[in-house]
Amino acid sequence: MTYDVIIAGAGITGAAVARELSRYKLKVLLLEKEAEPAFGVSKSNSGIIHAGTQNSPSSVKGWLCVEGNRLMREEIAADLGLNFVQCGQLIVVFDLADLPELEKIKKDGEALGIKGLALVDRAWLEKNEPNLGPEVKAALHVPTAGIISPYRFVYALVENAVKNGVDLKTSSRIVGINRIEKGGFYVEAGGTVYTARFLVNAAGLYADELSALAGAPTFKITPRKGEEYLLDKKREHIASHIIFPLPSKASKGILIIKTSDGNPMIGPTAHDVDDKADLATTDEGLAEVLSGVRRMMPSVSKSDIIAYFAGLRPVAGKDFIIRHEDSAPGLVNAAGIQSPGLTSAPAIAVMVCDLLKKHGLKLEPKAEFHKLRQRPAHLFQLPLEEARKLIEKNSAYGDVVCRCELVSAQEVRDAIKRGASTLDGIKFRTRAQAGRCHGGFCTTRIMKIMQEELGFPVTALTKRGPGSELIKDERK
Ligand SMILES: Cc1cc2nc3c(=O)[nH]c(=O)nc-3n(C[C@H](O)[C@H](O)[C@H](O)COP(=O)(O)OP(=O)(O)OC[C@H]3O[C@@H](n4cnc5c(N)ncnc54)[C@H](O)[C@@H]3O)c2cc1C
Repeated sequence: MTYDVIIAGAGITGAAVARELSRYKLKVLLLEKEAEPAFGVSKSNSGIIHAGTQNSPSSVKGWLCVEGNRLMREEIAADLGLNFVQCGQLIVVFDLADLPELEKIKKDGEALGIKGLALVDRAWLEKNEPNLGPEVKAALHVPTAGIISPYRFVYALVENAVKNGVDLKTSSRIVGINRIEKGGFYVEAGGTVYTARFLVNAAGLYADELSALAGAPTFKITPRKGEEYLLDKKREHIASHIIFPLPSKASKGILIIKTSDGNPMIGPTAHDVDDKADLATTDEGLAEVLSGVRRMMPSVSKSDIIAYFAGLRPVAGKDFIIRHEDSAPGLVNAAGIQSPGLTSAPAIAVMVCDLLKKHGLKLEPKAEFHKLRQRPAHLFQLPLEEARKLIEKNSAYGDVVCRCELVSAQEVRDAIKRGASTLDGIKFRTRAQAGRCHGGFCTTRIMKIMQEELGFPVTALTKRGPGSELIKDERK
């Protein structure tokens, strides 16, 4: 129960820190309050690996975003078997009088070291993005931006960290933190008290409460809601790039987002809310998203929408808070990780390790760090010939469970072997239940497989952890 470092929160930030620390000879514990990793902010976002534009060169997040993007393109996607697609981004203007604003974004981006930025005119747009509406006059082309599945990014980092020796405890909400006089912390979670010399706070929306619990009430998190609307896969080729308008003060604006799984997405809104659990979508949000998007692409219609969700950005001022808290020695906060936190996470992790080292943690590389993770098989991503070969080797890959998204029984079993223990955990890893029928056809099949693999009674199966059981035992 004694660790060198405890990490609070298994979202993208905590997962990236865990993997980075697993390179060294250290005992590391990753604590997560939910039933599985990636059930916080990291599950509800746009999945964009931003290039770094639309950030001030004087911000920490600007530099971390550019470095996170580089790490993804050059190392992480290949090492962790992730389906990162570098589709590029366009920031469009409706009036040529706004060209100086695009020039400024270009200049700031170049100051941050972003390569390949170019202004493109209406003729270029007509050739390369023919569905854009007539109001769009010009754009900034940003070739290094791309897309990824946000949850599969978290799961890949966690799996690889665990393979390299990190202990993961889920359903372990941190409820008490006490400082040890000689240095370090007692951390109470899930009915157990752990001790650690260092505590990394990556608790997303709750990072302010955790920092206060550890003795450093130094900031407040305000949730900023973003509503997103997913379109039917038949609109997959609506755009070749991620399309942005000019940014506003609060956000990067309402976007047309390609996703790595095919369904395009539109959104997100950006409105501050009081409640850290307010994940409701609204009529006003839908109207705002549709009107923003249809100005850029008039063919998008309300009837294209098949699903929707909201996410809450953990905002603590304009920039990320990544620092050692001198008032609570041993505590490193990685907080206020609003957008572009998904992109920046690998670079945040390196920065957190540097801070831990600066404050006395010895970082001695392991003789054997397993940097590679085998990519899970996903039928929907495979060319027909490869899918055929896979099914010849193991016929369970030909037993299709989710027909909307083409997910086989074997993929569901693989997901469970990789750690899924809830229906949402299976959905996020495989896409089963994520299609047009929302699990109407496949949920009972998946539950049967879960029973077989996990050995749970059917009444213990949940959607996302305790309190979301699907079948009630009336005898109790
Ligand atoms: C609508 C929207 C769109 C976005 N789009 C993008 C994008 O396209 N690209 C991009 O780069 N970024 C994007 N972001 C930002 C990105 O999603 C976040 O920056 C990132 O997910 C934050 O990750 P995190 O790990 O810090 O927080 P989280 O994912 O919330 O992780 C924190 C974890 O801590 C756990 N936790 C909390 N309290 C405790 C406790 N007491 N004990 C134990 N565990 C605890 C939580 O359950 C959670 O799992 C977007 C955000 C939103 C809301």
